[in-house]
Amino acid sequence: MPLDVPGARHVHSGKVRDLYALESGDLLMVASDRISAYDFALTPGIPDKGEILTRMSLWWFEQLVDLVPNHVISTQVPERVRGRALVCEQLDMFPVECVARGYLAGSGLVEYDATGEVCGLSLPPGLVDGSRLPEPIFTPATKAEMGEHDENVSLEAVVQMVGQEAAEALRDLTLAIYARAEGIARGRGMILADTKLEFGTRPDGTIVLADEVLTPDSSRFWPADSWLPGQPQLSYDKQFVRDWLTSPESGWDRGSDTEPPPLPAHIVEKTRERYVQAYEQLTGEVF
Ligand code: ATP
Ligand code: MG
Repeated sequence: MPLDVPGARHVHSGKVRDLYALESGDLLMVASDRISAYDFALTPGIPDKGEILTRMSLWWFEQLVDLVPNHVISTQVPERVRGRALVCEQLDMFPVECVARGYLAGSGLVEYDATGEVCGLSLPPGLVDGSRLPEPIFTPATKAEMGEHDENVSLEAVVQMVGQEAAEALRDLTLAIYARAEGIARGRGMILADTKLEFGTRPDGTIVLADEVLTPDSSRFWPADSWLPGQPQLSYDKQFVRDWLTSPESGWDRGSDTEPPPLPAHIVEKTRERYVQAYEQLTGEVF
């Protein structure tokens, strides 16, 4: 499924991105147009999604550059993947998904409902789906094997894995990045409910921000004007896809193990417009 890219050796494919090793020793990270929902990879892809998310990630890296160095080396990539690939430094990655949450949703909500805590942090009673937290929290997770869900863990567990100093540095960086990004998003009418970051180290030990950052694939963005705690929030990017999949029109039963049917052209087009809109609203640039 991954493309043949001249001068690059394919090393890994995730749900959405393909990773290649370059002869220089650097990494080529290619964002495809693949989209997933309800833990299924859907067909067809969303035209331009890979390029839009690559641009968004780059834009965010620049907004954060005074807080943390990033892994981007160059946007000059082979013709075949122009626009949706980045040349990146090969880092020694921390085996931790660094999540910051300012609002309760997803696995945070599930854990809170069961225990009143998220990742060992106790939260006040009475919070509901979509509630704003008293302050943003660091809720790390360990990377799961393909097909499994990531597992939320405590800061203590991260200390066990990477040591006290690195664990605290990851927490502080994650919260600082979230605070910066949440403020920028809010100024543009979007709530950044949570985000997942990944960090690695250079041979000299410097901690560097890696992977993709603050895209709809790694973060929950909600339109600020329709935020209403107590119910699932509208998803900025995938709402049309989710609504269609769960409507009678799709004929798909979410409770079954069957693959969802292909998305119809009008859903693909509306979803593409959503990604363009998110990019333009956030960055103020025209796609
Ligand atoms: P998923 O689809 O669930 O995200 P995945 O994480 O295996 O699956 P990708 O996110 O596409 O798939 O893969 C990117 C991989 O590259 C991740 O394992 C990530 O940790 C790693 N990575 C990102 N940046 C760097 C970097 N600068 N150096 C080394 N590895 C990196
Ligand atoms: Mg990943």
